[in-house]
Amino acid sequence: MEGLYEEMLEEARKAVSLDKLGRLKEAVEHYMRAVQLLLELSKRTSEPALRKVYAEKADLYLKRCEEIRKGISRRAVEEAVAVEEAIKELPPELQGVVIVEKPEVKWEDIGGLEGAKRALMEAIVWPMLKPELFKGPREPWKGILLFGPPGCGKTLLAKAVASQCNAVFFNVSAAAIMSKWLGESEKNVSLLFEVARKSSPSVIFVDEVDSLLTVRGLEEVGGERRVKTQFLVELDGLRTRPGEKLVILGATNRPWDLDPAVIRRFEKRVYVPLPDLKARREIFRIHLRGVELAEDVDLNELAELTVGYSGSDIRLVCREAAMEPVREVMSEGPPEGEVEIRPVCREDFVKALRKVKPMTKPSDVMRYLRWAEEYGEI
Ligand code: ADP
Repeated sequence: MEGLYEEMLEEARKAVSLDKLGRLKEAVEHYMRAVQLLLELSKRTSEPALRKVYAEKADLYLKRCEEIRKGISRRAVEEAVAVEEAIKELPPELQGVVIVEKPEVKWEDIGGLEGAKRALMEAIVWPMLKPELFKGPREPWKGILLFGPPGCGKTLLAKAVASQCNAVFFNVSAAAIMSKWLGESEKNVSLLFEVARKSSPSVIFVDEVDSLLTVRGLEEVGGERRVKTQFLVELDGLRTRPGEKLVILGATNRPWDLDPAVIRRFEKRVYVPLPDLKARREIFRIHLRGVELAEDVDLNELAELTVGYSGSDIRLVCREAAMEPVREVMSEGPPEGEVEIRPVCREDFVKALRKVKPMTKPSDVMRYLRWAEEYGEI
């Protein structure tokens, strides 16, 4: 596995240098070889997040081959290789727990959440892009917590921030830390911050931060306590180095479980709520891009029918509905030759809405609101 990854990196590097030299035909050969190796790597891992990263990279190289055919610039690929380098430097202890990416999420890919977008622009993006303006009393925030129901765009927002700042994105799974790092934990936490510092500008995104930094009291075992303490030390450390282009974004669906010492360190706490009517319409629009719709489909109506649905629930509705015409065609076995698929119609959405129900309970919404009133920014 290790050797295969090295081989893939080598192919990607060769492809990029040939690409730079203008030896495009040879470059394409090496890109394609890297793509094959990525597919092989993807087959061999059971980690879904890693599989996703491999697939994205393969897409990127394929896109570059297509671009070469059309004669377009090579910036995207160069950036991807810079990330490969950062991954390569990722010590083995961090692999499988931390995923390094250079995401490409634009603000327009996120429906609604205007307040959260504005807060993140001010708190992170502007200071990273124009550090000289953010000194003294305008010193930027270093620890920001995104909280709210699952599937409402916390991860998307974090990725959009990293894209805007052209930052390397360290996606850390807190649950994986707890299962893998016990024992060596505090050393690995500092290692993570050290690596992120080296590749700055960087964003460290800790999803499910509650599983790491919760109030556990006496049940807390030594390893968990040490991870928590070290995280707090690192968070404090960030504040004492104002010039540094490194921020930490935590995300949680269970803010009420967080230890008060942790809440205090995340100086800015941004509520990422369920989408309102306008946002739901926008999310439908985003997830139906490229899908042919029948004339009876009305996005306003769909937005009205989906009160209480999260962005992720809406994505599922769109996927279900879009599958219906394909199911019809495939139900009698795969047809021969070119297949004509009918547009997705209102009835497909009605069926999908019967299948996909909202994940968030109304009682939880009240709980988030109360927490937001006490600790957050709405
Ligand atoms: P969270 O981190 O809050 O649990 P995510 O950001 O991972 O949620 O969202 C999961 C998926 O749901 C996203 O990848 C996206 O496809 C969809 N989604 C969620 N919120 C939105 C939104 N506001 N706009 C567009 N898509 C969204």
